[in-house]
Amino acid sequence: MERERKSTGAHILVIPYPSQGHLNPMLQFCKRLLSKGARPTIVLTNFLSKSLRPQSTSIPVATISDGFDDGGYTQSAGIDDYLTQMRRAGSRTLADLIRSFRKSADRVDCIVYDAFLTWALDVAREFGVKGAAFFTHACAVNYVYYYAARGVLRLPVEAAVELPGLPPLDPPDFPSFIYVHGSYPAYFKMVLNEFSNLDGADFVLVNTFYELEKEVVDSMSKVFPVLTIGPTVPSFYLDKRVANDKNYDINLFRSEPSTPITNWLNTKPQGSVVYAAFGSMATLPQEQLEELAWGLLNTNFDFLWAVREEKLPADFLSASAGKAMFVRWSPQLEVLSNKAVGCFFSHGGWNSTTEALSLGVPMAVMPQWTDQTTDAKFVQDVWGVGVRVRAGGDGLVRREEIERCVREVMEGGRGREMKRNAGKWSDLAKVAMGEGGTSDVNIDAFISKLITSS
Ligand code: UDP
Repeated sequence: MERERKSTGAHILVIPYPSQGHLNPMLQFCKRLLSKGARPTIVLTNFLSKSLRPQSTSIPVATISDGFDDGGYTQSAGIDDYLTQMRRAGSRTLADLIRSFRKSADRVDCIVYDAFLTWALDVAREFGVKGAAFFTHACAVNYVYYYAARGVLRLPVEAAVELPGLPPLDPPDFPSFIYVHGSYPAYFKMVLNEFSNLDGADFVLVNTFYELEKEVVDSMSKVFPVLTIGPTVPSFYLDKRVANDKNYDINLFRSEPSTPITNWLNTKPQGSVVYAAFGSMATLPQEQLEELAWGLLNTNFDFLWAVREEKLPADFLSASAGKAMFVRWSPQLEVLSNKAVGCFFSHGGWNSTTEALSLGVPMAVMPQWTDQTTDAKFVQDVWGVGVRVRAGGDGLVRREEIERCVREVMEGGRGREMKRNAGKWSDLAKVAMGEGGTSDVNIDAFISKLITSS
């Protein structure tokens, strides 16, 4: 029986925080595990499972409760309430889930939990199951939070700071929860809490690749057993070793059909189109949306924008006719991999950033909050693949700045250098995920430690 279990691979429960930017990398990680002979089960909240009916994934789905089975986050009284209820209901129902697997003689060997959900490690411990924290942010961001959690980084941050493993950071380079001191206290508490029991985790998995964040990974590895396992971009765009892995399979938003978008892009010359998208969470204030609209149009480049068209002013819509295509939710990977796209105008979410790096697309990053500010710093000053779009003193990014940044990426010597650097990072990402690459080796090591220790 034991031999049979081992031959079918270690059984790993993977529990993402229920948002798009966390589901994508953790589901992708499941596909990698499966392709290497492990047996991952993705664990969704009851609400997500009911509302999404994830159909197309090859990964078995199990469910737990976040305490809001009929409405998820929107049913809660806010983030504090949501996190408290999720901890309570999640701990209880995860324990039930492990018991039910045990009853069917299907032991759970490891719980890979989103680093936001520290309670999952406590449940793993209770059952004598291994626990692996999965960080969906850049290693640099996690390390900054670690320093803040340990009191090494004094808050508020008012001048440039040098921390081991990181480049000198000016206050606006820090994650927004730090540099806008006192903003989003519940989220800030949550990211600091990631380190509250991390000493007890058997593995610390980070969705990045070693070559991209060498110094920070080396430094953080002195404190935690860090394994870089990314980028978790579908294999089709990287090493092509995982069959049928071209899309993120669980979408909280319905994507527009890709054919009209691809057909439109295919009529455009190479590197001539700006793609603008701000991920799944950001909603720009109306004034900012309009500055962005006119800024993009004033560049005179064609652009594809993931935006709710009805929010755009009528005079802008008529002025942009023939130059722009608007979609509510784009098939982002297909778009970024189209040769016509020369610049990704993005909010700097970590998935969007790793997707652009993997596909070799330079970026103009207009960060909104959370880790995006730090991602923007690295995009511009460390990886040399883009520019950071700056807000004025009133917090508004003006159309002239938007136009300037897009031009810098799309035109001239600096733009060409960014494109070259983006190509270099894309090659390195492919190598990292390919056979014998740094991330590939780490994923193998993770799986083999689960088997040898079970
Ligand atoms: N995305 C997409 N279509 C869109 C916008 C975003 O498919 O129109 C995907 C994108 O490829 C990425 C994820 O949604 O994988 C967004 O994650 P990210 O970390 O960039 O931002 P967040 O949504 O967490 O702010």
